[in-house]
Amino acid sequence: MSQNPAFPPQQQNPPGATDQMVPTPDHGETSYVGSEKLLGRKALVTGGDSGIGRAVAIAFAREGADVALSYLPEEEHDARATAEWVRGEGRQCALLPGDLRDEPTARGVAHRAAGELGGIDVLVNNAGYQMARRKSVADVTTEELDRVVKTNLYALFWVTQAALGHMGEGGSIINNSSIQAYQPSTSLLDYAATKAAINNITVNLAAELGPRGIRVNAVAPGPIWTPLQPATQPEEKIESFGTDTPLGRAGQPAEVAPAFVFLASPTTASYVSGTVLGVTGGKPVF
Ligand code: NAD
Ligand code: MG
Repeated sequence: MSQNPAFPPQQQNPPGATDQMVPTPDHGETSYVGSEKLLGRKALVTGGDSGIGRAVAIAFAREGADVALSYLPEEEHDARATAEWVRGEGRQCALLPGDLRDEPTARGVAHRAAGELGGIDVLVNNAGYQMARRKSVADVTTEELDRVVKTNLYALFWVTQAALGHMGEGGSIINNSSIQAYQPSTSLLDYAATKAAINNITVNLAAELGPRGIRVNAVAPGPIWTPLQPATQPEEKIESFGTDTPLGRAGQPAEVAPAFVFLASPTTASYVSGTVLGVTGGKPVF
């Protein structure tokens, strides 16, 4: 696994693209080894084109799952690269571009995923947005606030509501939370609040869906090297990204994906629901 790679200063515009990043993130392309933990399962991964979502898609495919990816239309290049890895494993990959801030689009993504894969067993609510290039709460524009809350919360609701119509006993929902739910950065005030809300929703949904045999959990990553970072952090913060963790470095998407596999699989997590699993490089998630 990568050893504290140096991140040269770099900037992109949101949503960011993988091939413009230096160094290229590790999504487990050459390292992840599966063992049929998700054999025959059908998974929808929102934001599955890049970053953590791409690593999850690759790991799920190696574990024997068919995968549907949702992403923004301008991310077609990244999405096709992820699809190649999934299809290279002999698994089906459905590509579902669309802006999840739009309710019919968000619901449509879940319905299309179920239609193309023949159902949904695992839903990964991974799509997310933040903006850290600001100094004070006074700088948070209504437009940015709307983008953060719509992407991180409204879309999660809409996709989950629609997906539940296609999920049954043995289903698993995994939400992507963040260390920001526990240790919020002032520059990410609004984003951190949505992640705290996602933890709350995770516990509550687990309570409602447990009787239907559907488990609901979250993963809370620490600093992970994905397009979201050069696309939303101030340039001067990139070089030291992740060095404030006990492990002293940022994580790679490949180091987060196994947590999603663990929570998705009935062979490893059949009695795990309503929990948040930290993958933070040592920062506490309590
Ligand atoms: P990423 O940029 O690779 O993935 C985020 C994805 O969200 C994008 O690829 C995009 O497809 C999707 N997305 C954003 N807005 C969308 C919209 N309106 N409609 C449809 N899709 C949209 O970055 P990532 O870091 O892998 O992010 C994945 C998740 O991980 C996010 O929820 C993020 O909050 C969370 N997370 C990331 C870190 C980190 O340090 N990278 C830490 C904690 C949590
Ligand atoms: Mg992307």
